Amino acid sequence: MEKKMITVTSPLLPDLGEFNEYLQKIWDSKWITNNGQFHRELEQALADYLKVPYVSLFTNGTLPLITALQALHITGEVITTPYSFVATTHALWWNGIKPVFVDIDQATGNLDPNKIEAAITPRTTAIMPVHVYGKPCDVAAIQEIADQYGLKVIYDAAHAFGVEVNGKSILEAGDLSTLSFHATKVYNTIEGGAMIMHDETTKKRIDYLKNFGFANETTVVGPGINSKMDEIRSAYGLINLRQVDKAIEARHQVAVKYREALRNVDGITFFDDMPGVRHNYSYFPIFVEAKKYGMTRDELYFKMKDQGVLGRRYFYPLISEFSTYRGLESAAPSNLPNAHKMADSVICLPMHHALREEDVKSVINCIINK
Ligand SMILES: *Cc1c(COP(=O)(O)O)cnc(C)c1O
Repeated sequence: MEKKMITVTSPLLPDLGEFNEYLQKIWDSKWITNNGQFHRELEQALADYLKVPYVSLFTNGTLPLITALQALHITGEVITTPYSFVATTHALWWNGIKPVFVDIDQATGNLDPNKIEAAITPRTTAIMPVHVYGKPCDVAAIQEIADQYGLKVIYDAAHAFGVEVNGKSILEAGDLSTLSFHATKVYNTIEGGAMIMHDETTKKRIDYLKNFGFANETTVVGPGINSKMDEIRSAYGLINLRQVDKAIEARHQVAVKYREALRNVDGITFFDDMPGVRHNYSYFPIFVEAKKYGMTRDELYFKMKDQGVLGRRYFYPLISEFSTYRGLESAAPSNLPNAHKMADSVICLPMHHALREEDVKSVINCIINK
């Protein structure tokens, strides 16, 4: 018999019967894309759920990043983090922008605001931080620097669905924020994403840009792209949104169990909840200190794999280590010591809504029994 694998994530799927009812409506209307009924409904439902004024849906989480940079006319150099999924920096590259990597804060994994100023040059036009693992960046400190130097701030908030600080959405920080609704994320539309903006004019402009720049049948207001979400995935998203709170609570319970079991394991550390923050438990990274734990990160990672526990080394290697970016001055490891330390010690444990009690126990035992 094939051994059952415990995967790092598992997609939240809508009830098939319910989805079928939506599909029937779509088949009846024959309206399958281009700002249809479910697209509009999902934008409104997400704005309500996320407590943000405007949402524009996209076909994935990479295109809103690329489009945000276009919409704000960002050029030259942008300060960003190497500790993220590679799409963050790729979005800059696709806009002909030079990424400038700044080190992270060891306590959070996020861009260290204290190190941003030293990386600003006359060519710097923006900062692109990431709320890594859904942990909120120090948005006040980042905004202060941005205001002082006249820089825009675009947050890659792909991990931060539903994250709030003192009851306020983290997605309201900066000029624009972007989300990913990829299958692996807390909330998914199979593939999908969104941009969050503060005002109606920007929402309108983004809606044009994601549809080739069409403002109406005969007017193209700018060099747009095609990054619209279709009706089928919008309907899927509407159903999934109704069960996402339950999924986040199930993840929370897994996090509680992991923390309880691993708190006193020598050489293993993890993040605790931050005061005043509504977390989404999108990931559960642990950090292995080889000397204390008695095994390297990779030894533990492969041992887990052998036992059917499929963690992932997010985010190893760092983006600054990929061939496209390695040659940049700011990619030098000596510039990014904290990011390297984190990338070399991290394993993200299985974390999703459908983990069973026995799965969680298997993961814990794998780490405890050396
Ligand atoms: C998932 C992810 C993206 C890309 O989203 P897609 O929907 O897969 O295009 C971008 N940035 C970060 C940090 C991500 O984790």
